[in-house]
Amino acid sequence: MVVQKFGGTSVADPDAIRRLIEIVRAARHRDGAGPAVVVSAMSGVTDGLLKLASDGAAGRASEAHAGVATIRDRHLAAAADLAPGNTELVASLTEQCQQLDAVVGTIATLREVTPRMSDVVAAAGELLSSRLVAAALLHAGLNGEWVDSRRVVVTSDDHTQARPLANETNAAMRAAVGSSIEAGRVPVLGGFVGATVDGYTTTLGRGGSDYSGALVGAGVGASEIQIWTDVDGMLTADPRVVTSPRLVPRLSFAEAAELAYFGAKVLHPATILPAVEHDIPVRILNSRRPEGTGSVITAQPAPDATAVTAFACKRDVTVVDITSSRMLMAYGFLRQVFEIFERFKTAVDVVTTSEVSVSMTIDDRRNLEPLVAALRTLGDVSVESEMALVCAVGDRLRAEPEIAARVVTVLEEVPLRMISQAAARRNITVIMRQADLGHAMQRLHEEFFG
Ligand code: ADP
Ligand code: ASP
Ligand code: MG
Repeated sequence: MVVQKFGGTSVADPDAIRRLIEIVRAARHRDGAGPAVVVSAMSGVTDGLLKLASDGAAGRASEAHAGVATIRDRHLAAAADLAPGNTELVASLTEQCQQLDAVVGTIATLREVTPRMSDVVAAAGELLSSRLVAAALLHAGLNGEWVDSRRVVVTSDDHTQARPLANETNAAMRAAVGSSIEAGRVPVLGGFVGATVDGYTTTLGRGGSDYSGALVGAGVGASEIQIWTDVDGMLTADPRVVTSPRLVPRLSFAEAAELAYFGAKVLHPATILPAVEHDIPVRILNSRRPEGTGSVITAQPAPDATAVTAFACKRDVTVVDITSSRMLMAYGFLRQVFEIFERFKTAVDVVTTSEVSVSMTIDDRRNLEPLVAALRTLGDVSVESEMALVCAVGDRLRAEPEIAARVVTVLEEVPLRMISQAAARRNITVIMRQADLGHAMQRLHEEFFG
């Protein structure tokens, strides 16, 4: 039995959902049970929901209410097409939108969105799409059954970035999703969404439906976790940056985790965790070309791996430099630096140090100002924004240092701000100006895959 997760473009409209139905039908026919289905919000809906929360907070109440109506009409039109005559579905979609409208009204009155309210608003996208897809599967003779993710994904109360509690989630998953499959049904859950032990709605961070798919896979002991999206699989580079990247047919969990962490948006970085723990292969597939074999991610490195498996890149990276003579021959300095990052809840991606300075990259600029002010107590601080990160990933980098040398040599005409590579690591990461990113990625891709 497999878990099939469908991203936003794979549930974008009735035609996309009809493709989903045929993909589910084929899996059920092949396996004789399941699958368990996890869906994202229809494409653009999560962005739309977050926008109406901010419209509300800015006092633009009528725009926010109009935004709710647009989302409601899009789902009701798809419902009429995919599950005609299902009055229960119409009632549940309508009620969900009424609740959303009430929350938006409260936000507009208070002129404030707390993280808890933001999660209630953002979760509506997946709650709506999952009800719609469950009813569409039922209408197509596939026994779809809606399962409320807020009952099965039990999380911490870190709103907008909640962490699932493994034991609670696994137990709830087995009870609700496992029993649905045993009863011969196709359980359908909204991804991205969970709830705390006390029942407050939470979300798992942007792109988090992949993570939900993996949690379901781990909870029910699936034989494979399938991520259905709009590209053929993990590609050798981001197709929006490099023209015609190639498909990576096989890669290891470790490689996929690095690629996802360093910017390959096709997979949410946390997706790999439940898969690793339960040794369940993850397969990335194209819902517009279901006949493809996709990319398979397993514990073992691919036997015929290329020198570099793939390149990932990230824009909008900020470099923070601290220079201090107090660092010279001193111990405990880096601890003080990292304590400040911890205090301001800012994750550091890449670090390089020299005798008197330390350079770090960060993604999240929300607390940059107070963070820099606190760092100034330790030394001179400089901040450079509009930087980009490029990361070459491959298991072979661990044993073949000449591959890292080739990466740096190819980039000889690009000014590199930082280079980071540890011995026996499967990645080499370089930081450059954002303006150089396109050219650098193209050059690297030509060198290794051209
Ligand atoms: P979904 O809505 O299905 O979750 P996403 O938009 O989150 O889809 O992820 C798929 C997108 O990831 C692709 O359309 C592609 O533009 C982007 N992407 C970035 N890096 C890669 C990569 N290395 N391989 C494949 N896709 C990538
Ligand atoms: N809908 C959510 C987002 O857009 C989660 C997801 O699609 O994975 O971030
Ligand atoms: Mg995604």
